[in-house]
Amino acid sequence: MSKIIDGRIVAAEKKEQLSALAKTLEEKTGIKPGLAVLRVGDDPASQLYVNMKGIHSRELGYHFEEHVFPAWTPSEVLEQRIKELNEANHVHGIILQLPLPLGLDKFYFLSLIDPAKDVDGLHPLNAGKFFQGIGGGFVPCTPLGCLELIKTVHNDLEGLNACVVGRSLLVGLPMAALLLQQNCTLSIAHSKTQNLPALCKAANILVVAIGSPRFIPGEWIQKGATVIDVGINRLPTGELAGDVDFASARLRAGAITPVPGGVGPMTVVSLLRNTLEAAFHYAGEPFPL
Ligand code: NDP
Repeated sequence: MSKIIDGRIVAAEKKEQLSALAKTLEEKTGIKPGLAVLRVGDDPASQLYVNMKGIHSRELGYHFEEHVFPAWTPSEVLEQRIKELNEANHVHGIILQLPLPLGLDKFYFLSLIDPAKDVDGLHPLNAGKFFQGIGGGFVPCTPLGCLELIKTVHNDLEGLNACVVGRSLLVGLPMAALLLQQNCTLSIAHSKTQNLPALCKAANILVVAIGSPRFIPGEWIQKGATVIDVGINRLPTGELAGDVDFASARLRAGAITPVPGGVGPMTVVSLLRNTLEAAFHYAGEPFPL
């Protein structure tokens, strides 16, 4: 049986550290980290995710505000709100909750966010800095959280074979870049990949982010591999499932994340981390993490 990588425990430890740093920043400078989330439309999953972000932000003593718009909101209204938030002194991080309703171009609206407040790391400037490996920008939250979980198993990733299944801008692609920066030997799989089982089997580290419940069976997993399951899928029964078949995978993996309770809590914590970093930068203080 494999080790279960409990994202809730790792996230709780990280939150304590962030909470202490936020307190220090406020005592020293009077600045309380502030996060604003723009949510457009009534996607129930988005609503749930934003609620979680609010709960955890407030727990750490951050200021949190949610700006909700109906799906038919004209572009100019959204543009104006982003502009106001860019200028607001009490807001250090801004998130545009995705997905946006049909007809709204996420790339356009993401590009309007001040890069210094783009704590999701999706502004082209931050993405460019990240992919060039020059630092100084924000790294997308889910891959950042996944890397922290991997590091609970492997101190040093150099030379390990990693496979990332999924190549989205939000998860797969930045995850692959992070693993490459750690000197892994990398393969990236997607919906057109041939012989996915062989690629998965060659991986010491397998990260799966495709959005298909229990798609990766245990027999595709190398014995002893570390498996990070990013997928969150609601089954017809109402139960949540990852992209990996947890029951069979845990018989072969060396370590594996559960769903729920694996990557999800780390995504939120990475967002809190990035927001704190933005607040430190705003205050002109060096960020210690
Ligand atoms: P996207 O739909 O944007 O991307 C899915 C990717 O998976 C695509 O690159 C697609 O390939 C690839 N893919 C789809 N089917 C297959 C297949 N059969 N074999 C190989 N590759 C395949 O999804 P996201 O990256 O945004 O999210 C993926 C999952 O992660 C979802 O379940 C989502 O809910 C979850 N998620 C969880 C988070 C968390 O905090 N735990 C945060 C964000 C997402 P192609 O490019 O060829 O179409």
